[in-house]
Amino acid sequence: MQARYERIFKTAESSLSVGCLYTLLFIALLSTLACKALAQADTLLYNAKIVQSDGSFVEALAIQNGKISAMGDSQDILALATTQTLTLDLQGKTVIPGLIDSHIHAIRAGLTYQREVSWIDTRSIPEALSRLESAALKAPRNTWLIVAGGWVEAQFKEHRRPTQAEIDGVAHGHPVYVQLLYSAVLLSSNAAQAWGLTPVAKKQNKNSNGAQTRLPSELLSRLTVQASESAETSGWYEGSSRTISELFDRLPQPSFKEQVIGTRAFFTELNRLGLTGVNDPGGYNLPLKSYRGVKLLGKTAQLTLKVRYNISAPRRGYELVDFQGIVKTFAKDDTPPFLQFNGLGENVSWSMYNNDAPTQEDQDQLFTVLLWAARQHLNVTLHWNNESSVDKLLDVLKRVNAIADITPCRWSIAHLNDASVSTLVAMKSLQIGWLVQNSLYYQAERFALQRGNPSLLEVSRFNTAKQLGLRTAAGTDAHRVMSFNPFVALQWLVSGLSISGTTTGSPLERPSRLQALQMYTRESAWMSFEDQTRGSIAPGFWADLVVLDRDYFSVPTQEIGDITSLMTFVNGKVVYPANAKVLASIPTHSTQASAQQQPSTFCPSKKFGPRGFCVGIFEPNGQFCAIQ
Ligand SMILES: [Zn+2]
Ligand SMILES: [Zn+2]
Repeated sequence: MQARYERIFKTAESSLSVGCLYTLLFIALLSTLACKALAQADTLLYNAKIVQSDGSFVEALAIQNGKISAMGDSQDILALATTQTLTLDLQGKTVIPGLIDSHIHAIRAGLTYQREVSWIDTRSIPEALSRLESAALKAPRNTWLIVAGGWVEAQFKEHRRPTQAEIDGVAHGHPVYVQLLYSAVLLSSNAAQAWGLTPVAKKQNKNSNGAQTRLPSELLSRLTVQASESAETSGWYEGSSRTISELFDRLPQPSFKEQVIGTRAFFTELNRLGLTGVNDPGGYNLPLKSYRGVKLLGKTAQLTLKVRYNISAPRRGYELVDFQGIVKTFAKDDTPPFLQFNGLGENVSWSMYNNDAPTQEDQDQLFTVLLWAARQHLNVTLHWNNESSVDKLLDVLKRVNAIADITPCRWSIAHLNDASVSTLVAMKSLQIGWLVQNSLYYQAERFALQRGNPSLLEVSRFNTAKQLGLRTAAGTDAHRVMSFNPFVALQWLVSGLSISGTTTGSPLERPSRLQALQMYTRESAWMSFEDQTRGSIAPGFWADLVVLDRDYFSVPTQEIGDITSLMTFVNGKVVYPANAKVLASIPTHSTQASAQQQPSTFCPSKKFGPRGFCVGIFEPNGQFCAIQ
């Protein structure tokens, strides 16, 4: 309580006149409440259930200049209101810190989101098909409809995959591509025809020397048709993750404008689900030019969440030289606090990426890059899947640390679902964080098939990690392998149950709801050195907040995944409004705090959308394009 009032006092001081300061000094016994009355607040939330980092709740908070300036009882905080203050009665709603996915390929997802159909959170095949059909009715003729992943058949009550006939029936002539994880794709009959996968197309292409869109024969040869299906007519094709990635890259590429619009739309969708930040780990097939869209949104003050990004090695064999160039120049046009370069990864050295049997030479290549990174005090995040081979990675990390101290650099290892206790101990000794995702929510059965059933209880040692003091942050790895819905991930964290009801991990290792929330907030912020400014609700922290539609702390566990945001704040501004009645009381404003840049320059008032915030995009040529 004392600390709380000290903060109020501090805020009051900054806005007081000199005369008032004298008065305060003179009246040494003036109560803190009197001082509070002199404080300013841009926004007040009251009559709420606001969670603090120790798990206790307060009723109200004040926001000033994008940060939380005071917290306490509704009555005390309401005393801070002025005629300029936006005052919101939350009627008992729960408020949590804005969620931060610590490992999500958000930049890559944004590039293609504009032309994609999302099946996340659909519960039946007709529901999924109806999303496809409504997109088909809106899309320009002949454009491809793409479901890029983020779903599994177990989420449908029918417990099966859709068929080619079903998607043909709703596609209204559009070619359709539906990806299932990185293992299979379903093509509509005209898409299969265009790519040369049907018998007729094969014949035609043979005669006509290959159509423009036909897949290269080498790639075709790597695709297989489900044995149980009738050859080419099933529409389902299977392949390795590399093959599926290459197939995706054969789809018509979005224009730069589509990339920008898609990124913005995707981030708004993340805001709807309570996200106020993402840590993006680059990854496979994300060339540097892919960052142009998110950088444009940063420059034009249109980012609605905070993006911390690590860069993956662009070229095999040139890792060190490429990173040296990137670090010098690439981050210069970042726009903090919304867009910030965080370091290297998750692919730092190609020869050690998805390689469970690296040679000494492979290890040495990674060592060279990591030693340079350590000497530059750069952050690094590393993709590693399997406990059985992680000693090869840890050996390299220990060698680097023996020469250049990596312990202050907040490096992390992503995935590693089956990390053993000794691996977690080794990570802790190097002060390396652990980025965990809910891949087992979709893939528990596949994991058990590969490694045997007992292995499912040997995963997700979260409480062991906590007891060791290992910083452990949560996320999804979306959007192709997993839904990006953070509440689905939170539900899995606290229950351990997969989408089919299979138990993963020992019950003794499960985090409490508060701990799971902290893995999605404060711990994610730690990975970008921001745990003292983001990820908690406390005076002095950025006002990145989510008002939930139901109480995360008391809903039945199986309903956590259905929670959404009623209102999402980033730096004290509403970036996601979903409740029109509450919104009616909110003044028109842009989506970002940068007052100098809006609204006159970028969002002329006539371009404001029905929800009261800027919905347009400025292209580099200065043309304004309304998108809603
Ligand atoms: Zn990865
Ligand atoms: Zn990843």
